[in-house]
Amino acid sequence: MKPVSACILTIGNELLFGETIDTNAAFIAQQLTAAGVKIARKATLPDTIATIAQVVKNQEEDICIITGGLGPTDDDLTRQALARAFNTRLFPNQRQAKRIEAFFKRFKRPMAQSNYVQALVPQGFAALDNDFGTAPMLFRKKPFICVLPGVPREARNLMTSAVLPLVQSHFRLTPIVHKEIKTTGIGESSLFDRIKDIAVPASITLAYLPEISGVVVRLSGRNTKAIVPLRNKIRARLREYIYGRRGDTLESVIQRIFIRKKLTLALAESCTGGLIASKLVAVPGSSRYFLGSVVCYSNALKIKMAGVPKRVIQRYGAVSEETALAMTQGIRRKTGAGVALSVTGIAGPGGGTKKKPVGTVCIACVSGHKRIVEKIQLFGGRSAIQERAAYTALNFIRKSVQ
Ligand code: AMP
Ligand code: MG
Repeated sequence: MKPVSACILTIGNELLFGETIDTNAAFIAQQLTAAGVKIARKATLPDTIATIAQVVKNQEEDICIITGGLGPTDDDLTRQALARAFNTRLFPNQRQAKRIEAFFKRFKRPMAQSNYVQALVPQGFAALDNDFGTAPMLFRKKPFICVLPGVPREARNLMTSAVLPLVQSHFRLTPIVHKEIKTTGIGESSLFDRIKDIAVPASITLAYLPEISGVVVRLSGRNTKAIVPLRNKIRARLREYIYGRRGDTLESVIQRIFIRKKLTLALAESCTGGLIASKLVAVPGSSRYFLGSVVCYSNALKIKMAGVPKRVIQRYGAVSEETALAMTQGIRRKTGAGVALSVTGIAGPGGGTKKKPVGTVCIACVSGHKRIVEKIQLFGGRSAIQERAAYTALNFIRKSVQ
C-alpha cells in the first residue's frame, strides 16, 4: 500500500533570512511521522503571493500543512495566496470576527482594526477556531490543506488538537512507535561497541542520538511486538548507564526519585552559575524536594556562603576536589539537605593553566554515607563546558540516590 504523503510549507521572510529558526516544520514533521504519514517534502517560502500560490497549486502530496503568514499586518500574505491558488476571493467570516473581538476582550486589550483581516477566509476553506490566538486555522478537504499561524505555540497546539484528528479521520494510517533508551556517562562509540552484535529486524530502525546530556538509543517501527524484546535486550547491555525512557530527562528522573524517597537537595554552584538549579526547577513540582542553590562564584562567597575553610582554597585552589567537597559539606550543613552537590571549574576561554586547563571541573556529591568526588576534563566552548558540567552533576545526583 502506498503510504500517505505530506508536504510541509513554512512561510515567512524571517525564516529565509535565518533570523527565525524554523521550529514549526520540525514539530509538524515529528507529529505526522509518528502518526504514520510519510513526509515527502519540506519547503520554506517567502511572504510572496505568487510564489506561495504556485507551490500550493502544484501540490502532489495527499496532505499539505502550511504555517505562517496569517498575521494582521500587510507583510503576511498567505490568505491572499490561497485565494490566488484556487482562483477565488477572500470573504469575511462573522463567527471568526466575533471570536477575535472576544479574544481581545478576555485579555482586556484594545482590538486594532487590522485584526479583522484575520477573519477573512478564502472561498472553499473552513475557518476553525484557534483557542490560542487570533488567526483561525484554515482547512480544506480536496486537496487536503491545513493552514496554521506561524506563532510556534499556536501552531503546536492546533497541530495536536485539530490537525492530527483531521488527518486521522481522513486517512487510514498505521502509527510509528518510538521507544527510547536514554543513557548518560557513556560515549556514542563505546555504547555502539556494547550492542553492535545484537541483530535488528528489518522492520525496526535503530538510531543513536548523541545529545549533550547523553546518548539516546531510539527504536522506531510499526510493529510493537518486535520492538519491545529488542529494547529489553539492549537495555540489559547498558544497564548502569540508563536513566530513563522516552519522555524522561535527567531532571525529571531525579525529581521522581527524590520525592519517592522523601529526600531533599541543595547545591553550591560556581562555574555553572545556577544552571543546574535552573534545569531542576524547570520541572513542575520541584519545590517538593529542591531546597535551592547558592551561586558562589568568588572565593569570598565560597567561604562565606558555602562555608569552605579559607585554608582549603589557599592550599588546593578554588578548582580542586578538596574545595568541591568542602562546598558540598558546607552547603549540606547550612541547609540540612539530605543530598548536596557542588561544582567548581574553569569554563574558559581564559583562566586555564598547565595543571588545570580550561574544562577542568570538580564535582562533589554527598548523600548519607555515599560520596562521589571527581575531577573531570570537559571539552568545548564556555557554554558547552557549563552544559556538560551541569549534566555530569545531574548524573552524579542520580547515581548517589538510585
Ligand atoms: P506569522 O504567522 O507569519 O505572523 O508568524 C508570527 C511569528 O511566528 C513570526 O514573527 C515568527 O517569529 C514566528 N514564526 C513563524 N513561522 C515560524 C516557524 N516556521 N518556526 C518558528 N517560528 C515561526
Ligand atoms: Mg509572517
